[in-house]
Amino acid sequence: MSDCIFCRIINKEVDATIVYEDDQVVAFNDIYPKAPVHVLIVPRRHIPSLAHVTPEDEPVLGHMMYVARKIAEEQGILESGFRTIINTGRHGGQEIYHLHMHLVGGRPVGPMLVRQ
Ligand code: 5GP
Ligand code: ZN
Repeated sequence: MSDCIFCRIINKEVDATIVYEDDQVVAFNDIYPKAPVHVLIVPRRHIPSLAHVTPEDEPVLGHMMYVARKIAEEQGILESGFRTIINTGRHGGQEIYHLHMHLVGGRPVGPMLVRQ
């Protein structure tokens, strides 16, 4: 997917501060961090969103959760805590259509949702 910004980051065609990578996922700092730690964990395979996953994606989805824990430990926020977020589709507020998990922490990140 040459027009996908996250595929381009994975392929090292676009710069990002990569904090972790392995054969299944790449994790890099969000360009507009909302907290002292704001990392995006993305599967190497271009999956547009959680609405597009299939049973074959189950292993990588589980792996993303474990990598979140690993990065949280590396970034010193395992004990203080953190939030993982996956935005999906229009109502979910998804902006980039390459599946990604936000890992945010380093300060109290506030209520999960604001009642409107
Ligand atoms: P979404 O709303 O799709 O869940 O989140 C997309 C995230 O990607 C946003 O937090 C945004 O700041 C981040 N982002 C967008 N473009 C880039 C980019 O080119 N590089 C990096 N590192 N992050 C990006
Ligand atoms: Zn992509």
